[in-house]
Amino acid sequence: MLYQLQFQSYRRPFKYPLQTSHGTWKVREGILLQLTNQTGQVGRGEIAPLSWFGSETLEQALDFCRQLPTIFMEDTIFDIPYALPACQFGFEMAQEQVSGFRFQVSEFEEQPMDSALVQSALLPAGEGALSVWKKLWQAGYRTFKWKIGVEALEIELALLERLAHDLPKAARLRLDANGGLSMEAAIAWLSACDSVSADLSVRSPIIEYLEQPLPPSQLAQMMELSKQHSTPLALDESVATLAQLQDCHTQGWPGIFIIKPAISGSPRRLRQFFQDHSIDAVFSSVFETEIGRQAGLQLAAELGNRDRAMGYGTEHWFDE
Ligand code: MG
Repeated sequence: MLYQLQFQSYRRPFKYPLQTSHGTWKVREGILLQLTNQTGQVGRGEIAPLSWFGSETLEQALDFCRQLPTIFMEDTIFDIPYALPACQFGFEMAQEQVSGFRFQVSEFEEQPMDSALVQSALLPAGEGALSVWKKLWQAGYRTFKWKIGVEALEIELALLERLAHDLPKAARLRLDANGGLSMEAAIAWLSACDSVSADLSVRSPIIEYLEQPLPPSQLAQMMELSKQHSTPLALDESVATLAQLQDCHTQGWPGIFIIKPAISGSPRRLRQFFQDHSIDAVFSSVFETEIGRQAGLQLAAELGNRDRAMGYGTEHWFDE
């Protein structure tokens, strides 16, 4: 099969700058691509790099698209180097569409994957979370994610107490440190989470997990923390690409894995990994446009843990 590529880059500003412990993010940039085969069938894909998370940069992805010949063979898509995981995702998902591959997600047919109930909604960092969750709750969301490690520890721990007090009991809360905590701060957070969850006398929400407390270089320390606390831990930055996921799994990570399919690499190899291993996985957005988002949701429905919300509740961060 022969393919022709068309592509264009895009810039999509966030409604409000997104704050994480990596810093402030104002504009999502990426590439939309279209593959056409010789019989005129078309598939669309998206390359949404996140270089500070371990993927290629936007410039590297653009260079790859520019150097492709006008017409190329299917093998070219499956031979995209591991150093370009976002390109692997964008091209393979487009190729799947051209080839007519369609995964049937029967259990989700009555509950559309876009529905708020099956998605986790991202709250603003800091005090903004205290007011924003109410609107999202009214929109149907029951699982919320809050970025921590953005402000001073004492301020955020006090906010956690207020949030835990205010959130309805049916809510679930995920905390995401983006690898930005010290060991002391991680222990303080986990102790606070353990006691919120243990305090059944207040209307406390379930703290579902704490995501990536320490940087990826400190896997052993995170394994140790997970033994000492009842609040579950999830890896995200540590498992940004499929190779890292395989490595952390081999080392025996006992907790949850966050998969960002748009940057984890080849969807074909990701499916193979899930066939070989049963892991507790939550699929999550990297603020793609609708094209990458639908492709990611498809993989989430195929491979993710159905008992957990998916991490694609991010549309309220954009105007359109
Ligand atoms: Mg995360």
